[in-house]
Amino acid sequence: MEPLPVPASVTAVLLDIEGTTTPITFVKDILFPYIQDHVEEYLQKHWPEEECQEDVRQLRLQAEKDSGVKGFVPVPSSAKPPAEIIKGAVDNVLWQMSLDRKTTALKQLQGHMWRSAYATGKVKGEVYDDVVPALKKWKEANLKLYIFSSGSVEAQKLLFGYSIEGDLLELLHGHFDTSVGSKVESASYRRIAEQIGCSAENILFLTDITDEAEAAREAGVHVAIAVRPGNAALTDEEKSKYHLISSFHQLRLPSTP
Ligand SMILES: [Mg+2]
Repeated sequence: MEPLPVPASVTAVLLDIEGTTTPITFVKDILFPYIQDHVEEYLQKHWPEEECQEDVRQLRLQAEKDSGVKGFVPVPSSAKPPAEIIKGAVDNVLWQMSLDRKTTALKQLQGHMWRSAYATGKVKGEVYDDVVPALKKWKEANLKLYIFSSGSVEAQKLLFGYSIEGDLLELLHGHFDTSVGSKVESASYRRIAEQIGCSAENILFLTDITDEAEAAREAGVHVAIAVRPGNAALTDEEKSKYHLISSFHQLRLPSTP
């Protein structure tokens, strides 16, 4: 792959996570199995805590809404013995995850479990080898670095705050999640530029997904596609349409000879 000169107008780099800074398998092979393997243990251990009680309450409310959904698993009422409620809550979580559901109740519990897993060193955020040296170099060159991921800002901060290479949060200027808008809508990239306080042409967006790159480009943002092991294959048309990079080192800063 050819080195990509970073356009001189670029003052900010916006980074996708999965498939760009981090193996696309990280969430699927590390984070989700962690929930499935530890949800019972987590609920037992944290049961007396108000946060855990609230998480279970939210699962129960969601389960009530789901009572018409095929295969639905109820969460027993708060009057039942804890062991019975926990069993129902575990089964409900496993059921929701088997359908790849993204309910707020499920996401909330998952978020709390991941926070505890990262903080106790049971999970570490993965980043590709080239990522940290490149981010440091870009930061030294006065580029501002931002994340845009469909994972919540809290989840992003955990991944980079407790990464295999230590706490990387000080390298980052800010985080965006889908509360700013969908990653495949160009309005989201205009909003990000507004919030950063620059124009779209000052931003370079790196992602593995061409639909996201297309939306960003429509907004006037510069884009490059990260080609990483395990990412979805690109069509010949996509390959010809975008700059491709297999390592962040392939980006050449204007001042770099
Ligand atoms: Mg991605």
